[in-house]
Amino acid sequence: MIYTNKTIGILGGGQLGRMTAIAAAELGIKTVIYCPEKDCPASHVASQSYIKSYDDKKALKSFAQCVDVITYEFENIPLETIHFLQKLKPVLPDDRILEIAQHRAVEKKFLNDIGIETAKWKEVRSEKEIIDFLDTLDVDECILKTARFGYDGKGQTKISKETDLKDIIHHTKGLDLIVEEIIDFACEVSVIIARDKLGQTACYTPGRNEHKDHILHKTMIPALLPDQIVSELKKRALILAEAVDLIGVLAIEFFVSKDGRLLANEIAPRPHNSGHWTIDACTTSQFEQHVRTICGLPVGYPTRHSDAEMINIVGYDVKTIAKYIEMKNAHTHLYGKSDIRPGRKMGHVTILKGREIEE
Ligand code: ATP
Ligand code: MG
Repeated sequence: MIYTNKTIGILGGGQLGRMTAIAAAELGIKTVIYCPEKDCPASHVASQSYIKSYDDKKALKSFAQCVDVITYEFENIPLETIHFLQKLKPVLPDDRILEIAQHRAVEKKFLNDIGIETAKWKEVRSEKEIIDFLDTLDVDECILKTARFGYDGKGQTKISKETDLKDIIHHTKGLDLIVEEIIDFACEVSVIIARDKLGQTACYTPGRNEHKDHILHKTMIPALLPDQIVSELKKRALILAEAVDLIGVLAIEFFVSKDGRLLANEIAPRPHNSGHWTIDACTTSQFEQHVRTICGLPVGYPTRHSDAEMINIVGYDVKTIAKYIEMKNAHTHLYGKSDIRPGRKMGHVTILKGREIEE
C-alpha cells in the first residue's frame, strides 16, 4: 500500500485551494491553508488555517513546521515568501516556474526560447516604443498589458496611434508593460498537464474556452479540433512541462488563430479554471493529479469517461443555481463564498454529455 499520511500546506485560500484540499482528503491527506483573508473557501474544507500576511515570517515558519510539502493556488504569491519557505520545506511546483508565470515578458520569452510560438510581443517603456511596434507589425491596433498581476483581463487595453499614449505611459509609470499583436482567433483552448517526480506525465485533452466580460464563461470538452492540432497542443504542453522540470500540474492557454497558428498565451503552474470538468468527467481530476504529484505519488490516469461542458457561476448568477441543481447530468460545485460581488467566481457546474446508463 502506498503511504499517504502527509499534510500539504496551501498558500492562498480560494476555490482552487478548496478543490485541492477536497482531492487531498479523498487520499487521506490533510491540508493546512495559509492566506490573509478570513473565512476563505479553502479554509472550510481544510484541517487548519493560518490567517496571516505573506510576509509574517513567524507565522510562515510555524505553517511550514506543520506540513510536509507546500504548494500555492495562485501565482501571485510573493517570491520572497516562497524563497523563505523553500528553506524549511519543499515548495512545488518550484520557484523557477512561478517566477516565469509572474511576469508576462519573462513568460513569453521563456516560451519562445523553448520553441513555443506566441503572439508577437514586445516590452515597452515609452510612447515611441509602442508606435515602433505598431509600425513594425504594420497594424493599427494592439493590446497593451501590464506584465504583472493580470487576471480576468485586468490590466489590459486595446490601443492605437489615436490613443493618448502619453497619458497611458504617464499613468502606468513604474509598471512593466508589454504590447501584443491582436490575434484573430478561431478559438481559445487550454491544455492541462501533470508531471510526477519520476517524469511521468498525464495530459488532458484540450478544452475550448469561451469568455464573457473577460472572465472564463465556459469550457467545452472535447474542443472539436482536428486530431493533428490536439496532438500538437499536447506536444507543446509536454515540452513546457519538461523544460521547467515540473512536479505538479500546469495549464497553458492557446489561441488557435484563423490562419492555423497555435499561439501560447499564458501559463499557470497550478490547477486551472478550465480544468474543473476533470473532477466529474475523468478517472483522476486535475486536483488529484496536483496532490499526487507534489506528494511523491505517481500521476493518475486522466481517462475521460464523458464529454463535458463546464460553466462558471459568476456574481449574481449564483441566484439562478436552482436550475442546475435540478438538471439531469449536471454536477453543481459551490465555493461557499458568502459575499456575492459582480465578477466574483461563486461556483461552477459541469454538465456531463456522455452515454447515459439508466439504472
Ligand atoms: P485570465 O486570468 O482570465 O486568463 P488574464 O488577465 O491573465 O486573463 P489573458 O489571458 O492574457 O489575461 O487575456 C484575457 C483574454 O483576453 C484572453 O483569454 C483573450 O480572450 C483576450 N486576449 C488576450 N490577449 C489577446 C491577443 N493578443 N489577441 C486577442 N485576444 C486576446
Ligand atoms: Mg488568460
